[in-house]
Amino acid sequence: MKILIAEDETVSRRLLQNTLVKWGYEVVVCRDGQEAWEGLQTQDAPQLAILDWMMPKMDGLLVCKEIRKQSAEPYVYILLLTSKSQKEDLITGLEAGADDYLTKPFDAPELKAKLRAGMRILDLQTELINAREALRVQATQDPLTGLWNRGAILEALRREIARAKRERNSVAVVMADLDHFKRINDSYGHLAGDAALRQVADRMRSSIRPYDAIGRYGGEEFLILLPGCNIPGAATVAERLMTSIAGQPVDLAGEKLLITCSLGVASNSEAPEADADWLIRAADAALYQAKSAGRDRVEFALKEMEGKGRE
Ligand SMILES: [Mg+2]
Repeated sequence: MKILIAEDETVSRRLLQNTLVKWGYEVVVCRDGQEAWEGLQTQDAPQLAILDWMMPKMDGLLVCKEIRKQSAEPYVYILLLTSKSQKEDLITGLEAGADDYLTKPFDAPELKAKLRAGMRILDLQTELINAREALRVQATQDPLTGLWNRGAILEALRREIARAKRERNSVAVVMADLDHFKRINDSYGHLAGDAALRQVADRMRSSIRPYDAIGRYGGEEFLILLPGCNIPGAATVAERLMTSIAGQPVDLAGEKLLITCSLGVASNSEAPEADADWLIRAADAALYQAKSAGRDRVEFALKEMEGKGRE
């Protein structure tokens, strides 16, 4: 565990440093508040800091305040070191954002106990962040394929459209639906169907550009978001997606099965005022056309369709 200490008095600083090193901590030593502030900005900065109150350049209070102004993560646990022991001063220190304080000259067992308390808080903080991150993933990811779920991809589409309007840029969507997927479930069972969906999802994910997004829109239906694309640009990506799926058979427990898909493409380059609903309806209508024309193909939504979707 790394601890940053900032103390301008040499004797006190050495004593603190030696004590912490003896206890097995890795110590980053600073001689004033400015150094401490800079030390806490570095990558992989210590998350535990012991700051002297009275220091040249920046005092401990100011360092506390500046740190708390920043993002709360990763959290820095701050122990304020002070020779003042009046109650009002301590309140000022805690209000500035210090987590705890220690009066000088410090008492080693007390310091040890307070550091342990600090580490407990940091551990809890890490657990909370991990739990929140897991929840976020759960809330936005399709558990079967690892792609965005319907809510997340629609949210991304709305954001992308807003940005495209601001930057006078286009955005395209591709609606892709696997052909005759029900037959796979019926003949091979749902587990095989799931395996096929995962393989198809992996292939599509590797055929899009890094700034595109892909989500599972429904059972075997996928929505792909292509920022900066007009219809011809989106057509290239759609063809690539189609080939990535139909180009080689999927492997279902040793059995090879060829899966094709139908795709509908729409772009706001055809309709600059288009919102998310319009684009989805237009791509859906184009997909419907691809299905009726015999499947395993890409169709495009043109302006005159006015976004009429399948009913
Ligand atoms: Mg001092």
